[in-house]
Amino acid sequence: MQYSVFSLLKNALTGHRHWQPAWREPEPRAHYDVVIVGGGGHGLATAYYLARNHGITNVAVIEKGYIGSGNVGRNTTIVRSNYLLPGNVPFYEWSMRLWEGLEQDINYNAMVSQRGVLNLCHSDAQRDAFARRGNAMRLHGVDAELLDKEQVRRIAPYLNFDDARFPIQGGLLQPRGGTVRHDAVAWGYARAGDRRGVDIIQNCEVTGFRIENGKMLGVETTRGFIGAGKVGMAVAGNTSRVAAMAGMRLPIESHVLQAFVSEGIKPLIDTVITFGAGHFYISQSDKGGLVFGGDIDGYNSYAQRGNLPTIEDVCEGGMALMPMIGRVRMLRQWGGIMDMSMDGSPIIDKTPVDGLYLNAGWCYGGFKATPASGWCFAHLIAHDTPHEVAADYRLDRFATGHAIDEKGQGAQPNLH
Ligand SMILES: Cc1cc2nc3c(=O)[nH]c(=O)nc-3n(C[C@H](O)[C@H](O)[C@H](O)COP(=O)(O)OP(=O)(O)OC[C@H]3O[C@@H](n4cnc5c(N)ncnc54)[C@H](O)[C@@H]3O)c2cc1C
Repeated sequence: MQYSVFSLLKNALTGHRHWQPAWREPEPRAHYDVVIVGGGGHGLATAYYLARNHGITNVAVIEKGYIGSGNVGRNTTIVRSNYLLPGNVPFYEWSMRLWEGLEQDINYNAMVSQRGVLNLCHSDAQRDAFARRGNAMRLHGVDAELLDKEQVRRIAPYLNFDDARFPIQGGLLQPRGGTVRHDAVAWGYARAGDRRGVDIIQNCEVTGFRIENGKMLGVETTRGFIGAGKVGMAVAGNTSRVAAMAGMRLPIESHVLQAFVSEGIKPLIDTVITFGAGHFYISQSDKGGLVFGGDIDGYNSYAQRGNLPTIEDVCEGGMALMPMIGRVRMLRQWGGIMDMSMDGSPIIDKTPVDGLYLNAGWCYGGFKATPASGWCFAHLIAHDTPHEVAADYRLDRFATGHAIDEKGQGAQPNLH
């Protein structure tokens, strides 16, 4: 069923009794041309673009839980392409362009909202760094505006400009950045892939790989063996565990990141704002809740929950930036598992196993990458060569010294 104003009217007039499920619940087949492990945003987007761009429709997405149960449904919904390094900017800008046409492409309302992303700066050195990043963005054709304090005040008068410990000096604004409703992205890609023939197999865990003479033959699952010509891994926080099943040890650690939502309040924040003197970012959802987050919890874990000291730290960041937030009650909080790479940048590459492909290392910035990641991973799986905007996301870059260290933090995954 094509979603349109006409289908909406027709169903409204017939008591909403004829809506169809958004995707099928097929039994797994014995063999697929491509199996994607992980039904998060990246896995579902990959399956969709395999069908859409390359005509490969004999594809299954194998998801151990339900669609949207991973990070794709747990993130703080921020999308942007305000990167510095040449290995990153074209990729994230391609993703931004795909977001801009996504809803028409997949016929699904993902609530893409280009409300602007404003990074605040609090020192001369930080302003210099923002000017450099803004210039790098503009050289790549990405929108960027360096703002002074008064320009920031006009956008966000509720910030603490009076007696802040770290006074706001200005900011870097990407007007085309913003938010996208996270779980709608999972549902939209699932439905669009399904319409092109992709099988979405939920509640089916991959428990092993069948590899013979270095060649991938398929996946062992809780619903039996499923043969595959090619297998793509897109399991985010579970990357190390799933890769270990294929005998691989990757430069990735798993850490928890928490998200927070307040009670609904009247419209207040109409952009995304990030604090530059601590780790705190905030936006307001269409339901009125303030959606915010901060640092990862500082230890390795596969548990999708966080700890109180990090909650306190995040809330302190919020209080330092906009003290009136202290009067708002927090409604909900949850955690997700981040696949933290050693340089903070992702990996989209082949692996030493013939027919096994890797998509990982998204740290806590992979939601914004969803469309481009799916696009480029599908390209790699279909052609066995990297897409040009993802060519630097090689697995061997850590061995060859070609790290893409966007933050300049070195091999410290907890800092990226
Ligand atoms: C609190 C939080 C806030 C974030 N905020 C942002 C943000 O504002 N902007 C941004 O760009 N990014 C953000 N991120 C990061 C972003 O959500 C992730 O980088 C991205 O969603 C990861 O890709 P994915 O959607 O494919 O992951 P997931 O949705 O986690 O998909 C991976 C899937 O693999 C499945 N899986 C794992 N093991 C197996 C197995 N053995 N067999 C079958 N299936 C398996 C999992 O169940 C899961 O559904 C945030 C993340 C969190 C947790």
